[in-house]
Amino acid sequence: MGRLPLHGATVVDPHVHLCKYGREKQTFAQVADALLVSMREHHVAVSFVCPDSERGTSVADMETYLALAEGRSGLRVYGTAQLPGAEPELLGRLEALAREGAIIGLKLYPGFEPVYPSDPTCHALYELAQRYGLPVLLHSGETMGETWREKYNSPAETAALAARFPALSVIVAYFGQPHIAECREVLLAYENVYADVSGLADQGVMAACGTEAIASVLREVTLRRPEKVLFATDWPLCSVRDHMRLIESLNLSPGARELLLGGNAVRLFGL
Ligand SMILES: [Zn+2]
Repeated sequence: MGRLPLHGATVVDPHVHLCKYGREKQTFAQVADALLVSMREHHVAVSFVCPDSERGTSVADMETYLALAEGRSGLRVYGTAQLPGAEPELLGRLEALAREGAIIGLKLYPGFEPVYPSDPTCHALYELAQRYGLPVLLHSGETMGETWREKYNSPAETAALAARFPALSVIVAYFGQPHIAECREVLLAYENVYADVSGLADQGVMAACGTEAIASVLREVTLRRPEKVLFATDWPLCSVRDHMRLIESLNLSPGARELLLGGNAVRLFGL
């Protein structure tokens, strides 16, 4: 497969998983090595891996990710917790990891977990994240076809969280798809809200949201607020190449393109 001309931009992918999707016979270590191969192929300098908040699933847990990232330079790990994430033992572990610089941010899964992320029972997690300058990446939108769960990760929920914690950087995964128009509103209304483009180049997502609607929202937000949108792929669930093609199809200015591909992640996560 040929590579796309990235004109020397530093590419950061802040949303991937070490998951056995399509790789059921592989070990998690083999999946991690496959990610490194994919990163070399697509010139991705750093990937942030999102563990599952549950143990024993086909997406491994945080402790497994921390072990896998050791010795694999280019991988950084999110801390995670099942919402509301208020158990003192887990909070203590996350704090120790944050202090050591072993976690890059927090990845949370509202919707998969039936908890409103703005609920006060979750606040200890955000207080910790704020104390250590860790951005929070929020699962959003689709919840495996169970649309009743989407109320737990709606754009209104993101807005409530952003308003309550103005010093916390909140990143909406998947640009809130299928609610990309509402996500755009929240991005533009709250200084501390960002969104990643993971999943948007997926065929099913393009069909549901409209290819032109996705491109025009990304173009408009990137033009008005070039610091707001982050490249990301959701590898191995989605294609890195298709996501790079999506970015190239936007015909952004060189500066906006560099920010989107990596500059925004570098700044937000303090790389
Ligand atoms: Zn994901």
